[in-house]
Amino acid sequence: MSDISVSAESPSRSPLSEEVARRRTFAIISHPDAGKTTLTEKLLLFGGAINLAGQVKAKGERRNTRSDWMKIERERGISVVTSVMTFEFNELVFNLLDTPGHEDFSEDTYRTLTAVDSAVMVIDAAKGIEARTRKLFEVCRLRDIPIITFINKMDRESRDTFELLDEIEKTLALDTTPMTWPVGRGRDFLGTYDVVNGGVRLLEGGGAKTGATEQIDIADLGKRNPNLDVAEVKDELALASEACKPFELAAFREGHLTPVYFGSALRNFGVGDLLEGLGKFAPAPRAQDSDLRKVEAAEPRMSAFVFKIQANMDPNHRDRIAFARLCSGKLSRGMKAKLVRTGKNMSLSSPQFFFAQDRSVADEAFAGDVVGIPNHGTLRIGDTLTEGEDLTFVGVPSFAPEIVRRVRLTDAMKAKKLKEALQQMSEEGVVQVFRPRDGAPALVGVVGPLQLDVLKARLDAEYSLPVEFEVSEFSLARWISSDDRKKLDAFVAANNSGIADDVDGDPVFMAKNEFYLGYTRERAEGITFSNVKDVK
Ligand code: GDP
Repeated sequence: MSDISVSAESPSRSPLSEEVARRRTFAIISHPDAGKTTLTEKLLLFGGAINLAGQVKAKGERRNTRSDWMKIERERGISVVTSVMTFEFNELVFNLLDTPGHEDFSEDTYRTLTAVDSAVMVIDAAKGIEARTRKLFEVCRLRDIPIITFINKMDRESRDTFELLDEIEKTLALDTTPMTWPVGRGRDFLGTYDVVNGGVRLLEGGGAKTGATEQIDIADLGKRNPNLDVAEVKDELALASEACKPFELAAFREGHLTPVYFGSALRNFGVGDLLEGLGKFAPAPRAQDSDLRKVEAAEPRMSAFVFKIQANMDPNHRDRIAFARLCSGKLSRGMKAKLVRTGKNMSLSSPQFFFAQDRSVADEAFAGDVVGIPNHGTLRIGDTLTEGEDLTFVGVPSFAPEIVRRVRLTDAMKAKKLKEALQQMSEEGVVQVFRPRDGAPALVGVVGPLQLDVLKARLDAEYSLPVEFEVSEFSLARWISSDDRKKLDAFVAANNSGIADDVDGDPVFMAKNEFYLGYTRERAEGITFSNVKDVK
């Protein structure tokens, strides 16, 4: 296997490209309960953030204050927010972008996946590929994000190893290369064989904190467990090495092949192998597409895009934090950046790093890092920041809502305030807002109903606006566009009662149902109806 670990002594490298090369920015994708939270805790242990273990969980009593930001989260015991955790291991800087577990907030998750260079796919060894894993995998595939697989819960009853690998290959159309191979299963699970270097790591006797494990020769396995048929283990390994494709870095980086690790997050077993694999194989920050050109990570001038806005992390201050992924260069505290959408400069006086749970003030951050930029509503999802160049990063999507509701205000005197508040909420990505051109009250669109609960709670708490949601005559929204401006104008004029403006003033066709949408679409020659919009 080629050594692609970062070399610090290459004389031609500038410090910037060295800093960039040692970054790994990733997310974990999984179906609920597969073990994402547990694995996150264990990964943070490796980075020295030991006090965090057992505190990442946003359920139950052990919640950390950061995810405590809203009552609704507390009441429902779910984590609504996306957060960022940074830790160092083996000279590398890992940025782990957390995603909400609940599928009602999947839009947040999709946007977060635009900000990573790779993903770890966690699979429950007893369950295999589940619905949400598959969906999130598809989002990764759309963006060519390379995937490393961690098959978790090996300490429990699990499915046959070949069968699991086969399921990944077939359902995801993704080649697999096991980097470790389980020895024994369920109650008899002894550990994993290191396919690359040989030797068996034993589950028992591992250090709880670092996951350091004893490694023995395969011939000695029988001495450890007299019930184990060593010949059978050897046969299985021989079969595995014959059946599995060798690891190919290029195929992995292109998203066609996944290296697979087996372990138990709960027992902190196999997590070290996974982290080493991530360091060795996962790409350093990649070039990002913009409307003008590809932007290379090691370019000296800073550029970044906002993929997430989070409000009220500190309930005492009404702060909004824009999470920005740095695409190139270096961001220093106090520097000025151009907000390309408005053309105005803003001072980045207190960008924040998210080292584990503490928000600490950073002096500098490099391409691949995520910084939090406090602001009072200046920044929106999809915004680009540069050192002057007028480019805009593409690919931060909006998705057509699954649910559309009309907002009813109980106090009609507050209509103007509601308008402002809804604009703000849609810029933050809490909900989408559609303003009918015929002057009817605003419509809000969401992917999952919990988003409506969040909106209601925030309008009440932050703007003293009690609202109700009513079923509207519309249930679907599609962005409409055309190469021919006249055609678009004619369509809009002919369908005026079904046209609304989105947050950017782009036209949206609102339909009662699928049938009506299909009927209209068939007759609207030259008009494109889209259920995804790239934020510009
Ligand atoms: P998430 O919903 O994906 O974040 O999953 P959690 O990390 O909350 O894990 C779900 C449940 O599975 C919890 O009860 C964990 O303790 C348990 N769990 C996680 N990893 C393992 C593992 O490796 N082995 C076993 N036996 N249980 C695990």
